[in-house]
Amino acid sequence: MSKNNDYDWRDDAACKGLPTEWFFPETKDHEMQSRGLDVCAGCSVKKDCYEYALPYEEFGTWGGVNQGKRLKARRVYFKIQRAERSVNHWDCGSEKGYQYLRRQAAKNGVTPIQCNPCRLAHNLYNVEYDALKK
Ligand code: SF4
Ligand SMILES: [Zn+2]
Repeated sequence: MSKNNDYDWRDDAACKGLPTEWFFPETKDHEMQSRGLDVCAGCSVKKDCYEYALPYEEFGTWGGVNQGKRLKARRVYFKIQRAERSVNHWDCGSEKGYQYLRRQAAKNGVTPIQCNPCRLAHNLYNVEYDALKK
């Protein structure tokens, strides 16, 4: 059954009410960590939990994956995101593209995404614009 709310999976979290330190051990406490991982292993919302946490949660065990492994996965995730942004939007790599990202962000009430080709194009545009004024 598909759920309506993106966060409904939390209702079925097997870790509900369990000690936080099992999932967020203060040191590399392997005993605490494996208690958390054991709970995750039997959790029915493991996949939702992992997918939610990948972009948003820097710390702790989520979805049956410990912090160290998630850090590696997060690096790859953000790398892919950046690569997609750099080629997948309208007029990318130009001042127009840069302004487009800003408008999109303003419309959605979020921070504009950082797109390197657009940022470079925008900086160049400003340099050229300043030069014209002289
Ligand atoms: S996968 Fe682990 S951290 Fe995520 S909800 Fe289930 S028990 Fe909690
Ligand atoms: Zn761009």
